[in-house]
Amino acid sequence: MKISIKAPAKINLSLDVLHKREDGFHEVEMIMTTVDLADRIELTLLEENKIVIDVSEGFVPNDNRNLAYQAAQVLKDKFKISKGVKIAIQKNIPVSAGLAGGSSDAAATLRGLNQLWDLGLSLDELAELGAKIGSDVSFCVYGGTALATGRGEKIKHISAPPSCWVILAKPPIGVSTAEVYRNLNLNNIDHPDINKMVAAIEGREYGQICQELGNVLETVTFKLYPEVQRIKDQMIRFGADGVLMSGSGPTVFGLVKHESRMLRIYNGLRGFCHDVHAVRIMGERYY
Ligand code: ATP
Repeated sequence: MKISIKAPAKINLSLDVLHKREDGFHEVEMIMTTVDLADRIELTLLEENKIVIDVSEGFVPNDNRNLAYQAAQVLKDKFKISKGVKIAIQKNIPVSAGLAGGSSDAAATLRGLNQLWDLGLSLDELAELGAKIGSDVSFCVYGGTALATGRGEKIKHISAPPSCWVILAKPPIGVSTAEVYRNLNLNNIDHPDINKMVAAIEGREYGQICQELGNVLETVTFKLYPEVQRIKDQMIRFGADGVLMSGSGPTVFGLVKHESRMLRIYNGLRGFCHDVHAVRIMGERYY
């Protein structure tokens, strides 16, 4: 038996870091929303008791370092499952990009195996198990649009932002989230106003959403990798309505309402950045 499921990317419309906790994690406040750029996960049941990863990108690990592998392992351990699974991952989401590709693969694996192994778990239970794998996995279990707090695993669903184009541009570097956090100076932060962003989203005020975009990790990544700032500057110059780096980067996204302008920006960016995608916000919950 096999099933095929989508694992969509997320962007952060807002990302704030409050303080470093005693357990080493940072206390964050983030607004995340799903976009329609997705990996495809195919799960095939195996009689043999093993987890096999077959991933389309050579540099993504195909062993227990893969987050989808860890998702299957968490369920196998908890429910003492003695059968195996083959997880085939078609990567479409850029890797180490700030788009939660690995976390979304893990979340899709949790949802899919819940069905294939007939575990009967609720999404809340899957999200709780997902938090053991990574802070973004809980959000990815639900998708949609949410305010994430704690280390990112406490999810409060909010309504979807108004639909628009999202242009994603990733320079050819991978950014280590740990390195960005190591370089963050918590005494010198210009905090985004998360409450205003929530109000703008709930009020479906597109212009206000573009105004309130904010990510405290931006300046850190810009300092480490100035090419990320250059992409942001280009997107602003080409006329995107709002521009922000997603997560710890290096992907920069631009929100655009009108298709003609989206095409102009997309084509302009393609001139000097290889990895550019034009997608839609998909902020409604569909799981
Ligand atoms: P986030 O936005 O949650 O910080 P990211 O988009 O920056 O995540 P990922 O693409 O999830 O980063 O990959 C981060 C690291 O995880 C990479 O070093 C990669 O090798 C590893 N990894 C493990 N499993 C996967 C997977 N299924 N897909 C992509 N990367 C994976």
